[in-house]
Amino acid sequence: MRFTRRTGACLCGKDLSRQVPARVEPVEIQGIKGLIGVSLKYLDEYRDPELAKNLLDGLLRRSLSRASIRLMEICGTHTVAIFRSGLRQLLPPSIQLISGPGCPVCVTANEDIDRAVWLAQQPGVIITTFGDLLRVPGSSSSLHEERSKGADVRIVYATFDALQIARENPEHQVVFLGIGFETTAPTVAAAVHKAAAEKLENFSVFSAHKLLPPAMKALLEAEDLSLDGFICPGHVSTVIGAEAYQEVAAKYHMPCVITGFEPLDLLQGITMLVDQLEEDRAEVAIQYKRAVTREGNIAARKLMNEIFEAADSTWRGLGEIPESGLKLRTEWRSYDAAARFAMPNIQVKEHPGCRCGEVLRGVMTPPQCGLFRKACTPQHPLGPCMVSGEGTCGAYYRYHS
Ligand code: SF4
Repeated sequence: MRFTRRTGACLCGKDLSRQVPARVEPVEIQGIKGLIGVSLKYLDEYRDPELAKNLLDGLLRRSLSRASIRLMEICGTHTVAIFRSGLRQLLPPSIQLISGPGCPVCVTANEDIDRAVWLAQQPGVIITTFGDLLRVPGSSSSLHEERSKGADVRIVYATFDALQIARENPEHQVVFLGIGFETTAPTVAAAVHKAAAEKLENFSVFSAHKLLPPAMKALLEAEDLSLDGFICPGHVSTVIGAEAYQEVAAKYHMPCVITGFEPLDLLQGITMLVDQLEEDRAEVAIQYKRAVTREGNIAARKLMNEIFEAADSTWRGLGEIPESGLKLRTEWRSYDAAARFAMPNIQVKEHPGCRCGEVLRGVMTPPQCGLFRKACTPQHPLGPCMVSGEGTCGAYYRYHS
């Protein structure tokens, strides 16, 4: 069904205004000369060149008290949006945008990729996963390679698709690879819940889920990185809410702004961060008000917390971070692939030249990796940051000359 953007009427002519799927709340662009009181309601307006120019002019005209401002975006969708809109080149040179560990596939540790590969090699096992993970190289193989050798590895577009595969293949064990942040974890929790309700005994989850706020704290404690503010992720924040970053802002005196994904969202988010820095404030502010609240999605978190509990987790590039991952609670252990299968200890081997770890920590940009655009390309990726559509190396490859 197609809707006209402004009226919500169906393009077939029927009045479906009551059925417009999502009500978009206008966001006020405030405090910027020339834009005070402008209310944005439609997608085109978030890309309006005139409004963007006014916001940019505001930043360019400002005399800043600091020689440099280093802001990190910790969401792969932001990384791609920033590249796509050319924001890095447009901002004043004193404002630097640094890409952080925001791509779920990229931060998945090599050992977890190796375990997924091992699971794919087991007879009678069907691996179900989101597409990006297939081509991520592990120590000696990838899921893609295993599939070409005959393993049953299937791409799904939703967690419930994996349940359907389990229903249709009762003689097989179906394992869903749970990769991603707080955004995807509730959907995986819902699948486990449903599997239990249906007494589906051939379904399990291999959880490599990650939690973002502990990783942000680890970044701030790293000695080789200095940051002045976080462009906080939009999607994750719809679930965890602004309150989840309170400790990051207060303990580390670090301004945080939860930002949307359109060019004007990003420009406004950056302006809000600069405002905080200039006024020596460190608060959690929400630019992306049309989707994010202070408390987040309580129902989604309740479901996630019913099935999962926080656990120490290893991140590519950041190492082990306390309580930064999710594992299935003991009462849901029968749906935990890590408990169902006796996984061996796997000797992990990293590609010797790949610098994904440093790229994910924001201490290196992809062109500084000796393999970038040479041995490592999207057609022949040597590390996850080149594989994923949200990976920093892939974004540099596609959008950076
Ligand atoms: Fe790794 Fe390739 Fe990125 Fe280099 S360019 S850090 S090899 S993914």
